[in-house]
Order: sequence, then structure tokens, then C-alpha cells
Amino acid sequence: TQRLTGPMAQLSDIVDWYENAKASGKRICGLMDVPVRISDAPNSVSLDTVTGRVEYDDVTFAYETAQTENNGPSDRDPMAGEPVLDGVDITVAPGETTAIVGPTGAGKSTVAKLLLRLYDVTGGAVRVDGHDVRDIRLTDLRSSIGYVSQDTFLFDGTIAENIRYGRFDAPREDVVAAAKAAEAHEFIEGLSDGYDTRVGERGVMLSGGQRQRIAIARTVLQDPEILLLDEATSAVDTETEYLIQRSLNGLAADRTTLVIAHRLSTVKDADQIVVLDDGRVTERGTHEDLLSTDGLYANLWGVQAGEIDSLPDEFLARTSD
Ligand code: ADP
Repeated sequence: TQRLTGPMAQLSDIVDWYENAKASGKRICGLMDVPVRISDAPNSVSLDTVTGRVEYDDVTFAYETAQTENNGPSDRDPMAGEPVLDGVDITVAPGETTAIVGPTGAGKSTVAKLLLRLYDVTGGAVRVDGHDVRDIRLTDLRSSIGYVSQDTFLFDGTIAENIRYGRFDAPREDVVAAAKAAEAHEFIEGLSDGYDTRVGERGVMLSGGQRQRIAIARTVLQDPEILLLDEATSAVDTETEYLIQRSLNGLAADRTTLVIAHRLSTVKDADQIVVLDDGRVTERGTHEDLLSTDGLYANLWGVQAGEIDSLPDEFLARTSD
């Protein structure tokens, strides 16, 4: 499953890019692995002002499996695979931060993908400001959500163009201000052509930490009501980690934030922590609430903090990857 998260996490960027490309008549379909049935409902609503309330209401979801031979009648959709989310309820109040933690494969990234409506739920509903995301114009939904992950999609173009992707009409000084807020200005200035350095497939290679800061700069420009963070799993040095964390904290302040957390140290201050295990919410509360129970969170915390050597057997089976 680890291998899936990288490419999958890029999907939202690619989907946006795809929509722009489609509008400009370019053909990039061969690159896409995106469900084609996601489209605007006939009477989809526009989101004019967004307060940023996010709600998962009894959400069940299964990825579709490839069509296999149908062996007679079944009450299950022959295309539906095993459920990866089962009865998930999560509410994020406007301006608050909810962190989702849990073992690899628990369904955390899937929760994120459903908010972006890269897939539609199998049961229940995901709502933004009380509207089912299936009823919201896709462009409105996605422009209200800022998505930051390490696997940022950089297209062939300059750094400035890649940052301006967050708001196409942004003047250069706004691009620079965004890069400063994202702690990216210094490394950009250090590149051969500064903001005009080419990146992407035919440009300079950027590190994971640098790509992530470009993504943050984009999101600063975009100024979305809702922030969706997929925290980095790969190692960056302590200094970079500190810079990234500081800029993310600035971005998350007063914004509805849903963070897919891989490092427990960064979730301590969340208003709410949701523990997902095998597709179900097993614990929720603040850091202190969850530490006082002897559940998965308290044990994961103990391992990361070095207080215990490994997870007790009862949790081990599900964290083998
Ligand atoms: P997490 O983010 O907690 O590691 P994911 O949401 O990525 O978990 O994955 C949850 C489950 O869904 C895993 O069993 C994973 O293998 C499966 N899965 C993820 N993406 C896909 C996909 N595109 N198609 C089929 N199964 C998938």
C-alpha cells in the first residue's frame, strides 16, 4: 500500500490540471487513472461563500475491483471490492483542525480523496457546509480545498508558474510573498534562475521537502477555506521539517484543516484526533483524552516517544506494513 499513496496523492493535482488542459483542448487522457463518472450533478450548487464545515456522515466506501466473471446472483455490486471505509463519522467545525491517524492501509488517504471527490462514497455522505459534495460544482468544491502533500505535481514550467497555479492571475509580488510564507523563498533564490528556474520533468530536480514547500506556496496563494494536508512520510532534515511545520501551522490557523498525520508529534495540538483502524473510527478525542485510554493511539504514542519498544500484540497484526 505504501507505493500507492504517492501516485494516488497526486491525483487531485492531476485532476485539476486535467480540467484545465481539457478546457484548453489538450489531450492528456492517456495519463489519467481517474474515474470518469465523477461529474457535476444536473442541478449542482455553487459555493459562493464557504465557512468550511466538513462532515463525513456514516461513510462507507469500496474501491471498484476490475470486472470479474459474475458467478450468479449476488446482493453485492459485482464491481465493488472490499469496503475500505465502514460507517465513518467525522465532523470538522469551521476553523478547527482534525487529525486522522492510524496504521498504513487504515483508509486515511481514502478519507482525503473522498473530500476532493476523486471518488464517490458507496454509502452515507460527505458534506461541505451542509451540501453533499456530489451536489456541489466540482470546480467550486476543489477550489475551496487546498491540498498539500509531499508528492506535489510539478509541471514543466518555471517555479513562478508552478506557484501561480494556486491563482493564475497573481502578480509576481504575491508569488514571492507566498513563497516567503512557505519558507521557500530562500532556496528558490539560490537556484540558477531564481523564480524563473524550470522545474518538472525537463527542469531541475527538487527534493521532497522543496516540492512540498512549492505546494504550500501554491496553497497560500489559493487561500482556500479548507486545508487538506497529507503529511510527509519520507525523511527531511530537522531544519527543513521545522520550516515546513512552521509554514503549515501558519496556513492551518483559522482554517478548517483535515490532516492525514503520519507523525504523531504533529497532531498533539489538533482540536480533535480521529483514530482510523481497518476502515473504522475506533477512537476520537484530544491528545489528552486518547492518552488516558489504553487504545491504539496511546500505544502508537508510546512507541514513537520511546516509552515502549513495540506495539502490543493486539495491535501488531494490523501494522505489519
Ligand atoms: P492509508 O492512507 O491509511 O494508508 P489508504 O486509504 O491509502 O490507507 O488505503 C486503504 C485501503 O484501500 C488499503 O487496503 C489500500 O490497499 C486500498 N486502496 C487504496 N487505494 C486504492 C485504489 N486506488 N484501488 C484499490 N484499492 C485501494
